[in-house]
Amino acid sequence: MSEKYDVIVIGGGPGGYVAAIRAAQLGLKTACVDSYSGKDGKAAPGGTCLNVGCIPSKALLDSSKHYHHIEKEYAEHGIRANGVSIDIEAMLKRKDGVVKKLTGGVTQLLKANKVDFYHGKGTLGAGREVSVAPSDDGDEVKLSADNVILASGSVPIEIPNVAFDGKYIVDNVGALDFEAVPEKLGVIGAGVIGLELGSVWNRLGSEVTLLEALPDFLALTDRDIAKQSLRIFKRQGLDIRLETRVKSAEVKNEQVEVVVEVENEDHSLSFDRLLVSVGRKANTEGLLLEDSGVRLDDQGRIDVDEKSRTSVDGVWAIGDCVRGPMLAHKASEEGVAVAELIAGQFAEIHFDTVPWVVYTDPEIAWVGKTEQQLEEEGIPYSVGSFPFAANGRALAGGHGDGMVKMLAHEETDQLLGVHIVGSNASELIGECVVTMEFQGCSEDLARIVHAHPTLSEAIHEAALHLDGRAIHRAN
Ligand code: FAD
Ligand code: NAD
Repeated sequence: MSEKYDVIVIGGGPGGYVAAIRAAQLGLKTACVDSYSGKDGKAAPGGTCLNVGCIPSKALLDSSKHYHHIEKEYAEHGIRANGVSIDIEAMLKRKDGVVKKLTGGVTQLLKANKVDFYHGKGTLGAGREVSVAPSDDGDEVKLSADNVILASGSVPIEIPNVAFDGKYIVDNVGALDFEAVPEKLGVIGAGVIGLELGSVWNRLGSEVTLLEALPDFLALTDRDIAKQSLRIFKRQGLDIRLETRVKSAEVKNEQVEVVVEVENEDHSLSFDRLLVSVGRKANTEGLLLEDSGVRLDDQGRIDVDEKSRTSVDGVWAIGDCVRGPMLAHKASEEGVAVAELIAGQFAEIHFDTVPWVVYTDPEIAWVGKTEQQLEEEGIPYSVGSFPFAANGRALAGGHGDGMVKMLAHEETDQLLGVHIVGSNASELIGECVVTMEFQGCSEDLARIVHAHPTLSEAIHEAALHLDGRAIHRAN
């Protein structure tokens, strides 16, 4: 006999655990199945994001930023700090503590919301039957439900001739746990993970080289922001090599020997450690029995429509295992929306206003369309911008790098995109997301009172500049 639920969620990441909590809040009898085990071998719901993604990377970004500031920036403030050293073991321990606190918190939240949690691998069969192979090697458990939400997340992409070995050639998991600062760190892929984790180890003293196949840096980002960011990161010491194709990597005498092709010529490079961060793919391994009927798309993701419905009635899929950006907040909002749809409520996600953030220093954040996209789509637009070098608060804090760029429809003034590279861009983007969600105009941002002195005045000024009436820069 299988235990019957209204909703079973497979996967306990930011998509899955949020969907389970929302479904339970709506009075649905809910189970959440997650196979992730923490370093202590115990259940650690929270998925990639809490265990080996968003949270531990930000913990290390913050720790390394403190160290870097003491080493390189305090002197400018007249603060002399001698004999500063770094204790990597303590830094990693702190990071692990933050992760444990949060995964423990998710366990408590599931319990408080009366979600039944199963620690094990879930497989979906026909008729919305789910079998769970427990992580502790116990007996298989059979469950069934009127609705199943698949939230199995993603895994790193491996490239040919560059095999992960968990020590020298690693993915994000390995790069969050180097026991010592690698003298030379190679990174394949100058994308989000490469830049964030490359920055961590660069600040701690590694010589970091990023090998990027494409000719354009941060190709998805607005071109002006990408250009400024590249200049800033190079100045910080990141050696970013574009149009560099990795052909192979091999460990010899505790060194990773990498062969790259640049302008049709092969070159050899040597590193102490190599991080491969060339993107992630949907994780569907062992998730679906053949008779489940759930269809995958041409990229191996679970095929869903705009409401997250799969090819099988009552089976839904959300987060990294489906189309759309691989972002924790996108996964969570899809989870909420699906739970509400199951409960018979109205729900929809506006993918156009999902914000993106790269947590480098300065941060990069954006929402909406880039200038290149507007050009390609033939949408008439106006541009406004403002440099942080002209913002009092930024200068007072030593954060003069970067800019805000704003794009609005040339005729209606509706806000179409805002792009920021600068300190606290992750927080600044919030008001732009709200404005776009309410279909606001650049004029709305220009007429709203912004506190002085704040970084947000750069958004105000960019909006004024778009209309040719900025006060603190030439128009
Ligand atoms: P996941 O978080 O991957 O969770 C899926 C869970 O399902 C996992 O616990 C997995 O073990 C489990 N699972 C899979 N299959 C089964 C099965 N058959 N049975 C049981 N359990 C199963 N995004 C941001 O928005 N901001 C960031 O700052 C950010 N930083 C990141 C940094 C790094 C280094 C990485 C790798 C990613 C980062 N991301 C960030 C992306 C973010 O982690 C993902 O978008 C997010 O975790 C996706 O959530 P999810 O619930 O879809 O999947
Ligand atoms: P990415 O897509 O951000 O970057 C991968 C980069 O690798 C790209 O620039 C790509 O051109 C390059 N590349 C691909 N194949 C290559 C090859 N063979 N040789 C050299 N370069 C190659 O992917 P990622 O950095 O692995 O991150 C995966 C996803 O995780 C991101 O897309 C993002 O959705 C998510 N993530 C988000 C955050 C955040 O929100 N702050 C942080 C980390 C990860």
